[in-house]
Amino acid sequence: MPTTGEPVAVKAASLELAGIELAFGTNKVLRGVDLAVPAGQTACVIGPSGSGKSTLLRATNRLLEPDAGDIVLGGSSVLKSNPDELRRRIGMVFQHFNLFPHKTVLENITLPLRKIKKLGSDEAGVAALRQLDLVGLREKASARPGNLSGGQQQRVAIARALAMEPEVMLFDEATSALDPELVKGVLALMADLASAGMTMVVVTHEMGFARQVADQVAFMDRGVVVESGPPEKLFTAARSPRLQQFLSQVL
Ligand code: ADP
Ligand code: MG
Repeated sequence: MPTTGEPVAVKAASLELAGIELAFGTNKVLRGVDLAVPAGQTACVIGPSGSGKSTLLRATNRLLEPDAGDIVLGGSSVLKSNPDELRRRIGMVFQHFNLFPHKTVLENITLPLRKIKKLGSDEAGVAALRQLDLVGLREKASARPGNLSGGQQQRVAIARALAMEPEVMLFDEATSALDPELVKGVLALMADLASAGMTMVVVTHEMGFARQVADQVAFMDRGVVVESGPPEKLFTAARSPRLQQFLSQVL
């Protein structure tokens, strides 16, 4: 495995989404989403394409502003906090990595540390190298993202998010853009992070990962969480016909 197996020090907080609503024009994409993730737990969000999963994650760290509802981090509402401060506390990993192509791997990680966390460049460099160690990519520090495999790029994106010492991590289909042979390494890193006690919300099509790693699985359809529960229950005893139909297509 690409990870070093060293324990990742995390300072996780609980996350509660309550009645989140969000519309694009007249298209009501989130229609009152509730999701509570205790500190140190992992919730996997599954559901058909277009059901609002990505919108929910974007609303959670306020890349999009919800129209209604509350986001509670570590027991306090963060709807009125500074969005930059919130994005320091809630890290996000995207399907397409979103690394800066013209910067080195190291610069990709130090940039937010300097801009948002206001670290000096020496301190940022040390923190970035430490994170690269943890994802097994220190030797790629001076490489450009384009010279890395998709799996390596995604591990850099995870390292970049972790370097901010977030209290919650959001993953939006982090392995969907990867070649099949690269998926395992990224999922293993995510599983390590879950074991280390990070609070995570993971939007995924990887049902095996959800089964093994999630404390809770939430099934979203048409802008609401239709059903949620522990994976062994959700996957074997789905109550709603919509979830039963979804599972019959993906399992
Ligand atoms: P999922 O991630 O579950 O596939 P999304 O959250 O991406 O679903 O999309 C839910 C709905 O919101 C879709 O109908 C999509 O077209 C719409 N949508 C997503 N982002 C935007 C946007 N920036 N502007 C307008 N509509 C959007
Ligand atoms: Mg999506």
